[in-house]
Amino acid sequence: MADGADHQHSGPLDAEGFRRAGHALVDWIADYRESIGARPVARLPQPGAICAKLPPRAPEQGEPMARILADLDEVVMPGVVHWQHPGWLAYFPANSSYESILGELASAGLGVQGMLWSTSPACTEVETHVLDWLVHALGLPERFLSTSAGGGVLQDTASSAVLVALVAARERATRFASDAHGLGALRRALVCYTSDQAHSSIEKAARIAGLGKEFVRLIPVDAQGAMRVDRLAEEVNADRAAGHLPAFVSATTGTTGVNGFDPVGEIGAFCAAEGIWLHVDAAMSGTAALCPEFRFVIEGAGLADSWCFNPHKWMPVNFDCDALWIADRAELVRALSVLPEYLRNSATESGKVIDYRDWQIPLGRRFRALKLWFVLRSFGLDGLRGLVRAHVAMARELAARVRASRELELVVEPPLNLVALAHRGGDDATQALIDAVNRDGRFFVSHCRFHGRLVLRVSIGALATKAEHLAAFGDLLLAEAARIPGSAP
Ligand code: PLP
Repeated sequence: MADGADHQHSGPLDAEGFRRAGHALVDWIADYRESIGARPVARLPQPGAICAKLPPRAPEQGEPMARILADLDEVVMPGVVHWQHPGWLAYFPANSSYESILGELASAGLGVQGMLWSTSPACTEVETHVLDWLVHALGLPERFLSTSAGGGVLQDTASSAVLVALVAARERATRFASDAHGLGALRRALVCYTSDQAHSSIEKAARIAGLGKEFVRLIPVDAQGAMRVDRLAEEVNADRAAGHLPAFVSATTGTTGVNGFDPVGEIGAFCAAEGIWLHVDAAMSGTAALCPEFRFVIEGAGLADSWCFNPHKWMPVNFDCDALWIADRAELVRALSVLPEYLRNSATESGKVIDYRDWQIPLGRRFRALKLWFVLRSFGLDGLRGLVRAHVAMARELAARVRASRELELVVEPPLNLVALAHRGGDDATQALIDAVNRDGRFFVSHCRFHGRLVLRVSIGALATKAEHLAAFGDLLLAEAARIPGSAP
């Protein structure tokens, strides 16, 4: 790579060296993206193979940037899984558009640290404003607007979002006694509820927040993967009878396994009556709410105390970027605020500004909103809606082919862009199919278990994936399915 970069000069770059190396790196990224479809999506090296190419100690003397950039090809690429590949159908997408790469670069270039409004007002105000834009764009309730009692904040991930929501919920439930004296002083267990299909980050948050794994109730789901509210009510009643304090429900709209949608309206009404904090995790599917026809994704959001989704999944904002809204920011800020003398400033004391350090776990924060702002402006909401609609149409087309096949069946009806299917021959046949599809190299799928059954997940959401890729994938899937022993003759 990198003919533009200086081969002679070693050591820290000056502005001219940065210009040359930067242009070379941008070219390299563009070349990579243009040719990505020719690579196998996920070929793993032997464990340790990448490490073995690296010297045992860091260099004492600086090296020329050209050599460092060349090692992207030599050392790094053999160990890269191509998440931006058009054949990326595994896990969930982690889209990284050119716009978001530029926003990331601008953020690093500015190098500001926006812990307080006063440490870089634009870092706070662009973020607040763009999150207000998204409230309108997704059709979320007005109480999430910064002009109301609530507001939005960017977190690194949905895992951090649920953690801060849970900490605020914990303090609401204990009237801030836990902040003051620790959970032990309560002599009552706090309980968290989520479905058995919810993401593992919910349990992790409950463990970190001190509730303990024993007090995470995994509520069963129905045949479509939606939390059963009757079972939730039973668990809450049983916990109250045992003297515990039900504190937090995390509902999922778009579960990781099969894209199940919990009935948030019903759960919200129950939580409101019981005085339990309701968090909604719409990590992957939240983006679909940009389209009026998919607004079922935000059903019940008006009853949520907190609601989050990941622009770093389906919306093409590169990792990391999670948008969290909170209905009552005062509770969150009170739960997380610690104000040492060295952070005091007149803007904070005026009460007229937001200091996002009080809305997250770390103190420091980067200008993460820039990449979101770049993407929203360059794509436009209509461009993003087009992306969502195209992926959903591909999922529907594939689902129709699965329905018509003799060997395969849908495990659930795909609500959006995830097709969950299985081989009629049973788990061994489904595993053989997953292996065969992935061996081909053009596509990469992953799996889950749902009601005990092995599922092949086809997660359609990569920016590069177009209808012709899905058509080729469908051909491969059906051909391999028919080859598996145990298939219908
Ligand atoms: N929630 C859901 C439904 C997810 O699918 C995922 C990850 O795939 C997460 C949460 C965790 O996301 P993050 O990596 O942003 O913490």
